[in-house]
Amino acid sequence: MSETAGLDAFDVGPSGLWSELLNSLPKRIMRSTRLRQILEKWPRHLFVDQSNDALMRLAAGMDSPLSIGHGQTISQPQLVVRMTRLLRPKQGERVLDIGLGSGWQAAILQERVGVRGKVVAIERIAALLHATKKRFEELGLHNIELILGDATNIAHWPEGQFHVITCAAGCDREPDFWRERLAEGGRMVVPRKAGDVKDETYYQSDGVAFPAEGWEDGPMHQLVRTIRFADGYREEEHDYCGFVPLVSGAIQKE
Ligand code: SAH
Repeated sequence: MSETAGLDAFDVGPSGLWSELLNSLPKRIMRSTRLRQILEKWPRHLFVDQSNDALMRLAAGMDSPLSIGHGQTISQPQLVVRMTRLLRPKQGERVLDIGLGSGWQAAILQERVGVRGKVVAIERIAALLHATKKRFEELGLHNIELILGDATNIAHWPEGQFHVITCAAGCDREPDFWRERLAEGGRMVVPRKAGDVKDETYYQSDGVAFPAEGWEDGPMHQLVRTIRFADGYREEEHDYCGFVPLVSGAIQKE
């Protein structure tokens, strides 16, 4: 018997655990029933390797980031919910997902935009992209176009414009050509380096406390939402958070 087999006796069945996590998220960030349904359809453990292992399933049901190998992480569920809310994806829209990773955020967004919409996702690490491509095939996710490449180097891409752009890697400031890819009315959310935040109250955002653990010198990033209007852009600062860094250059070898 494996060391973790006994955990099954505590009802760590993935769906039970996941529903409990969704129930525990602050009501103000889980207002949308549609988003709740989508998260129930695509629980995080489906995007984590070895999720048949009881401990991994347990970890996937926790509100914290989790390793997906290659020094990268699948995001904390609360953060994915916050970003999805800020992005306001709608049926039929075109989405650009920067930093595909495990594919969890892309799966949630494709469910929201539906078959009339489209998700294009870019990832710089070939091994991650290929593992996620296989996962999408197994899960029957066919509406996500995968591109191996460096998102800091897509200025001349033939991909057109997007209603939604999301980035799961933190940076000082994203390249200007990302926002130029937004269609009018489009929304982009990027974790940018947070300013010099020392006051503990800044660990609170949207009325919800964020864990100060590991943030003794202040949080690393802040979600910045850019909205494109006919006559320009508006930038808004939202939640404090921590992300893996946006890195230049693609890694082709497996
Ligand atoms: N959305 C993912 C989060 C993955 S973490 C999920 O749901 O699992 C962020 C990802 O961004 C990593 O996989 C990392 O390799 C990728 N990344 C970092 N810099 C990049 C760049 N310049 N271009 C494309 N992907 C990048």
